[in-house]
Amino acid sequence: MKYLLVLILALVVFWLWRSSRQAGKNAAQPQRPARQAPAGKKEITEMVACGVCHVHLPKSEALIGRDGFYCSEAHRREAGA
Ligand SMILES: [Zn+2]
Repeated sequence: MKYLLVLILALVVFWLWRSSRQAGKNAAQPQRPARQAPAGKKEITEMVACGVCHVHLPKSEALIGRDGFYCSEAHRREAGA
């Protein structure tokens, strides 16, 4: 009779341990959305073409010359701007 009580206690402890482990497993994997930039915050980069080689590059990286945008200082000089 004493062993039966111990066995039941062991089963209860095991069941509690197993359910708490499963709860911890669920907490370890939160339902987090994929890391993506919010659509509203995404900046639209304006592209411009180099006046010499016609390579497209972001406007923020382009060199501004007299007749337009250039990809590099060499092309700006080449264009005579
Ligand atoms: Zn160029």
